[in-house]
Amino acid sequence: MVPGARRLEGLGVTIFSEMTRLAIAHGAINLGQGFPDFPGPDFVKEAAVAAIRADLNQYAPSHGLPRLRQVIARSFEQSYGHPVDPEGEVTVTTGATEGLHAALLALVDPGDEVIVFEPFYDAYLAQIRFAGGVPRPVTLWPPDWRFDPDELAGAFGPRTRAVIVNTPHNPTGKAFTRDELALIAALCQEHDVLAITDEVYDRILYDGAVHIPLATLPGMWERTITLNSTGKTFSMTGWKIGWAIAPPPLTQAIRTAHQFITFATATPFQEAMAVALEHAAESGYYAELAAAYSERREALRRALELAGLPVLPCLGSYFLLADASGLGFPDDVSLCRYLVTEVGVAAIPPSAFYADPARAPVLARFCFAKRLETIQAAAERLARLPDMNTPAKLAHAAQR
Ligand code: PMP
Ligand code: GLN
Repeated sequence: MVPGARRLEGLGVTIFSEMTRLAIAHGAINLGQGFPDFPGPDFVKEAAVAAIRADLNQYAPSHGLPRLRQVIARSFEQSYGHPVDPEGEVTVTTGATEGLHAALLALVDPGDEVIVFEPFYDAYLAQIRFAGGVPRPVTLWPPDWRFDPDELAGAFGPRTRAVIVNTPHNPTGKAFTRDELALIAALCQEHDVLAITDEVYDRILYDGAVHIPLATLPGMWERTITLNSTGKTFSMTGWKIGWAIAPPPLTQAIRTAHQFITFATATPFQEAMAVALEHAAESGYYAELAAAYSERREALRRALELAGLPVLPCLGSYFLLADASGLGFPDDVSLCRYLVTEVGVAAIPPSAFYADPARAPVLARFCFAKRLETIQAAAERLARLPDMNTPAKLAHAAQR
């Protein structure tokens, strides 16, 4: 038996590491784990080099460099219209992942229930458990991933402490609408529940969709923790510069936890992200980012549809879900194994985002944070799929 605390029960290697390992082992094109295969912008890299050379290399203040907190606050207000106090309402964290960990450790007591929309980013379940909380999934239904308002209302009860809302949503590409957020907000207020939002894809939206932070809805600022990260926005997922915006009492609690998780986040990368956020606000960078992703989304959509895999709607994030139910695989894990070993393209089985994997429909998540050449190479491999011996093909042949 592998030694480990009880809180690790059922937690193996994440699906992202597993699929990247298989992609390397089989020489597959990796459209699994979500990370860009193109370099982040030069102005961001140069800012980090300059910060290292300027000897910004010792511990930052625990809750973040003042320059970065100021631009985070300014950028939120400019984009979403709600003022943020950089002194009392912003904490810089080591990615959104640490932001969530700090928020849950700071605010959730053992036995508290935390509502999550299923499918959910895989870290949520583990992190709720680490805090001693009890996850309470509420289903999002394909194809447009709406939730049943009655199911959501039924999930709120006396033990509910928080609800986690990820918009734009990984893996579905859903952008929660104002009406949906208003419903969540009303329930949070009725039951005196906190909201933790994960908005790491807020700059990656399509087809005129707009991002609405739940914190900006009436009555929600006092009870919302807004998490974000620069990993997706600046294509630097390895830097892990994120933040939590929350009203002063919640920020104080988050900072207390954060002090003893990482204490502080890498100083030169904080400085570089301050420069990046200042530049982005003035330069039209966000519009360019969304336009570039829109082109990649279209290229991948075409590739999947030519391969006989219709895609579900995607208004945000850099993932497309493809409907593979026609190929005859019993579940999405066997489908993704086949794709990586036989077709040579790695994807993520969304069942990794379900508390009970058996509830997942047979879909595959493909990441299009890739160069157009990478998407084209994947398209060529996927184009062979209609002629391959998938379970549906074999079953059909056996019947004749
Ligand atoms: N939340 C979501 C929805 C994500 O997709 C990811 C990573 N791709 C994260 C959080 C983690 O962000 P970070 O790398 O900043 O910790
Ligand atoms: N969030 C990324 C994804 O959804 C992966 C991050 C990770 O590997 N932990 O693919």
